[in-house]
Amino acid sequence: MTETVKVAVRVRPFNSREINRNAKLIIEMSGNQTIIKDPENMKAEPRKFAFDYSYWSHDGFKERADGYNEPASSKYADQKKVFDDLGRGVLENAWKGYNCSLFAYGQTGSGKSYSIIGSPGNKGIVPLVGEELFRGLEEKRKSAAKDADFQVHLSMMEIYNEQVRDLLSSKAAVKGGLRVRQHPAKGFYVETLTSSPVNSFSHIEAKMNEGTTNRTIASTNMNATSSRAHTIVAMTFTQKEKNEAGQSMTKTSIINIVDLAGSERADSTGATGDRLKEGSAINKSLSTLGNCIKALADMAGGKKNVLVPFRDSVLTKLLNNALGGNSKTVMVAALSPADINYEETLSTLKFADRAKAIKTSAVINESPTD
Ligand code: ADP
Ligand code: MG
Repeated sequence: MTETVKVAVRVRPFNSREINRNAKLIIEMSGNQTIIKDPENMKAEPRKFAFDYSYWSHDGFKERADGYNEPASSKYADQKKVFDDLGRGVLENAWKGYNCSLFAYGQTGSGKSYSIIGSPGNKGIVPLVGEELFRGLEEKRKSAAKDADFQVHLSMMEIYNEQVRDLLSSKAAVKGGLRVRQHPAKGFYVETLTSSPVNSFSHIEAKMNEGTTNRTIASTNMNATSSRAHTIVAMTFTQKEKNEAGQSMTKTSIINIVDLAGSERADSTGATGDRLKEGSAINKSLSTLGNCIKALADMAGGKKNVLVPFRDSVLTKLLNNALGGNSKTVMVAALSPADINYEETLSTLKFADRAKAIKTSAVINESPTD
């Protein structure tokens, strides 16, 4: 079934830097509309964007002792609200055998990781999906036939400077990165990537902590900050059950969750010369993602003979399905509320706006068990 990418935007509270600089609020949300004011011209007609979901997480909450942001007013969108809208749909689709992708876009510090991963007190979409998936599996196993089999595998990788690193491998990183290959039917994949069987949510948590630790070590070694790397967590969910005719069938769903590198332009970080060149190589994946989204949006708008440059970067090869193929896809664009980030926030809104037009056609991945 062909459908468009679902796009959500979420605005976070002011951070201490913004508070210290006396930042002004330039974002408003009303229904599905997100409105941004130009701080140079606060009286001008503001720009308006419409998205599938607009999450106001700027104020209206109180922080509980365990760190959880409890809604203190009905306008505050907490982690549960975001999970109920976006995560539950992903889960339902995974049970049906669809591939699902969820990616977070925005400048460094805008709230990507908060929405996707969160913290122990404020669990984001990945942990909540993991928890709910295993809860569902426990129920399912009670009623399923004896020879039915359900498995979840987890992999976690990082793309940095066009190289793929396995975050669940204890071996030293492969020089030059892991190879990305193309399967005629399934599309691009990473060769020899670790795929760990997981059988409980705490198992997923432990694996992800392991991956995050590896990620930190890697970025220290490369003298980089993790904000320049893309992290992809993939859960592969397989369900083997007999159909009405008594034939064993296997449904497979890959849930890809992508925490993208910060979208800020290299020049806004003050980099020049070699550092700038390094920055643009590191962000090749991100700029190619922008080019692909632009091409896909043009295509959706009826433009003919558009070439989508998926092959131009590692990230876009791996997101090929998520963006143009066999996947149900959700994008969360994270926004700073502050005037001092106006240019970046506006560019995030424009990116999210283009992404809305993209069409994918997910199919149920089901075939006779081999
Ligand atoms: P990014 O991954 O985009 O670099 P983070 O997710 O790390 O940004 O967020 C930066 C900071 O803002 C973190 O301290 C995080 O806890 C806080 N933050 C982000 N989004 C929210 C939110 N919706 N509610 C409360 N705090 C948030
Ligand atoms: Mg982050």
